[in-house]
Amino acid sequence: MSAALSIDTVKEQASRLTFRNQAFINGKYVPAASGKTFDCINPATGKAITQIAEGDKEDVDRAVKAARAVFEKGSWSRMAPTQRKKVLMRFASLIEKHTTELALLETLDMGKPIRDSSRIDVPLAAQAIGWYAEAIDKLYDEIAPTGPEAVSLIRREPVGVVAAVVPWNFPLLMASWKIGPALATGNSMIVKPAEQSPLTAIRIAELAAEAGIPEGVFNVVPGFGETAGQALGRHMDVDCVTFTGSTEVGKFFLRYAGESNMKQVSLECGGKSPNIIMADAPDLDAAATAAAWGIFFNQGEVCNAGSRLVVEESVKDRVLEKVMAVGKKLIPGDPLDPKTGLGAMVDKTQMERVLGYIEAGKKEGARLALGGSRVKTETGGYYIEPTVFDKVDNRMKIAQEEIFGPVLSTITFKDADEAVKIGNDTIYGLAAAIWTKDITKAFKVSQALRAGVVWVNCFDNGHISSPFGGFKQSGFGRDKSLHAMEKYSQLKATWIHIGA
Ligand code: NAP
Ligand code: MG
Repeated sequence: MSAALSIDTVKEQASRLTFRNQAFINGKYVPAASGKTFDCINPATGKAITQIAEGDKEDVDRAVKAARAVFEKGSWSRMAPTQRKKVLMRFASLIEKHTTELALLETLDMGKPIRDSSRIDVPLAAQAIGWYAEAIDKLYDEIAPTGPEAVSLIRREPVGVVAAVVPWNFPLLMASWKIGPALATGNSMIVKPAEQSPLTAIRIAELAAEAGIPEGVFNVVPGFGETAGQALGRHMDVDCVTFTGSTEVGKFFLRYAGESNMKQVSLECGGKSPNIIMADAPDLDAAATAAAWGIFFNQGEVCNAGSRLVVEESVKDRVLEKVMAVGKKLIPGDPLDPKTGLGAMVDKTQMERVLGYIEAGKKEGARLALGGSRVKTETGGYYIEPTVFDKVDNRMKIAQEEIFGPVLSTITFKDADEAVKIGNDTIYGLAAAIWTKDITKAFKVSQALRAGVVWVNCFDNGHISSPFGGFKQSGFGRDKSLHAMEKYSQLKATWIHIGA
């Protein structure tokens, strides 16, 4: 979607969309067993777009049965890797071919700017699936260095039935980081999209079928977390849960596994990432601009958002001035307008949560330097302006808890040791950044920071080949890179006795 398109053109494209709104089980769209549906809301207007099948225990059970049956049959799980590659490459191409439609669905469903859904979310989702497809017929298994009396073959086998429970902030992309490696390694799967954003997951199910993925291998069960999500977490025949979402719900999945069949669980959870800017950063203006985008991108609804700006005292005023200059220009707008850089918050609950944190920051004595309010109320949508707090103490609620909105907390430090101490003073450990010209300092600080990703002189950069995931209560297991495949395979040692 080019920025040259007018909002009228995009709206006209949106008006021609049709919405798939049912579960996709065993190769077919089906209503929920209960017949129930729930409203799918457009957060830019507060109005319903369509009604979605409300999947629950019975639907989950049907999907798991279908997934298990095809897994046992072997039509996907034992397909030659080269053949699986071809099918998944077709799936990736179909996603790419439907970029405009999928981007519109994503934007209508969860309020992110069309500019981002069409240039980032959908292309990267297609890239992720294609990347794992291309990898799968180039990986070798191992033979152990035992003595001459035996040959021990160490093979990776698919885990079986995988449940992917995903969030609403990058609905298609977070799902694709799981779909790519789970399907490439030969598993069957069930995707449970977030209730706020089910449209793209439901739509790509038929693209998967069109690509040639056999019936039952790829299922989508929309519904609520407490019902459909929990049913997957507690199901006795789900072998693996791969989850992205909040730390609170991540802990539920550990409990579900412990109280059911001890299924394998991997968790990609929340964050409170420190973006550490030293006075000797190579370019303070570039660092400040990246800091602004690091918190305002995707309305701040980003797990690795640089929500704590940890800046050396001597350069704080200069950095903050630039951050605020970027923030002031980012006026929330209609997500369907190709010129919009900041869209609507995903729903009313999330908007109110973020506004609650802004109030808490003021009460705790932080200085509100920019924004702080809901805007565009006349639209019925859930918009919050870019917000910056200065004079934040790292012990304050706004520095400790994940806000998941466009709200930045600025904290100062005097030397590298203090920066590391502040950076690590959090229950989270998803990501961090350090800006400095000094390579030794950059390396030492990056080693000392307890986070799954540390950026040096950039923020939020990445590639599908580089792993992503957290330390501490940001979870465990990695999405992206070849390491992601480890979650969806188990090692089998076949010991062949040769004799003396
Ligand atoms: P969430 O509330 O934890 O929901 C995530 C998923 O879990 C949704 O599909 C949700 O379903 C489901 N769920 C909710 N309650 C459940 C329960 N009791 N049992 C089983 N499943 C349940 O998270 P969110 O609000 O969608 O997303 C924001 C969070 O995701 C943030 O904390 C963010 O940091 C994190 N996130 C992390 C990463 C990462 O890679 N580390 C990436 C993106 C987002 P319903 O929505 O239908 O209730
Ligand atoms: Mg929605």
